[in-house]
Amino acid sequence: MTEIIDGNAVAQSIRDDLVASIDRLVDAGQRPSLATVLMSEDPASETYVSMKQDDCEEVGIEAIDIDIDPDADAAELYDTIEDLNADEDVNGILVQMPVPDHVEDRSVLRAIDPMKDVDGFHPENVGRLVAGDARYKPCTPHGIQKLIESAGVNTEGKDAVVVGRSDIVGKPMANLLIQKAPGGNATTTVCHSRTENLAERTRNADILVAAAGVPEMIDGEMIQEGATVIDVGINRVDADTEKGYELVGDVEYESAKEVAGAITPVPGGVGPMTRAMLLYNTVKATGLQHDIDVDLP
Ligand code: NDP
Repeated sequence: MTEIIDGNAVAQSIRDDLVASIDRLVDAGQRPSLATVLMSEDPASETYVSMKQDDCEEVGIEAIDIDIDPDADAAELYDTIEDLNADEDVNGILVQMPVPDHVEDRSVLRAIDPMKDVDGFHPENVGRLVAGDARYKPCTPHGIQKLIESAGVNTEGKDAVVVGRSDIVGKPMANLLIQKAPGGNATTTVCHSRTENLAERTRNADILVAAAGVPEMIDGEMIQEGATVIDVGINRVDADTEKGYELVGDVEYESAKEVAGAITPVPGGVGPMTRAMLLYNTVKATGLQHDIDVDLP
């Protein structure tokens, strides 16, 4: 029987556990707070930010909502980040990407105080992750580690294949999988758009993480019998639905589930975990900034 890994349930259990840590911080006089900065009118970005704020409120994290006109000068965004860096009542800062073309996204990530960088994208935090001393693990790959663990799969000594090498998913995922630490110790291959014989690589995977952003590119024939398949992709494809589209992953779910030992669905797999791990990092940041010991799930 193929195990369907329920990201909603795992995320809920992490949120439940975080509430106890948040209560502890509140008792110590430090309610965690997350500032979200949106410099965009893109409806998808607006939706992501409002979901993140709802998530915060649900567990007792204060959500600070900052909107910047997308036509404003880049300096306005940098000034806002500087104010948030200096504000002791702000524990986490998230600038929703993408920012407008006239703003350089790498400079934005560098402007955020690394102690408040709950996305884990500041070069200091990326460096710490690579060095095996992560402060804030990026939310999507960290959530995937939790999903793999929840399925009772031990990564140690396994062949892991990550399809995709982006800074936010593929690279940090591969880095976590090779760490000499729980959830790591896998022999890891990273594939990308120039990889030759992709199917040969993916068929070798005991653990396959698909993060290419190409609808249903990995089918059952590209998967090893019994593999753990984590589908990160969220792709809109035209469909005869009320909205005119549906969401599919990078994995062709129906054929993959016949072969996989465990698999995440889309939606309801990785997505909820990404959101839960943002709360996790915000709680961790609050503890670190105020030297309060918080038990993290
Ligand atoms: P990017 O577009 O930044 O990166 C995609 C990567 O996949 C690149 O490294 C690219 O290779 C590689 N790739 C593209 N096509 C192929 C192919 N045909 N064969 C092999 N590799 C290929 O995407 P992201 O990493 O940001 O996101 C990936 C997917 O995950 C998207 O669908 C996104 O929506 C989703 N996502 C979901 C999240 C969640 O919470 N569930 C969070 C973040 C992303 P190259 O480097 O050579 O161009």
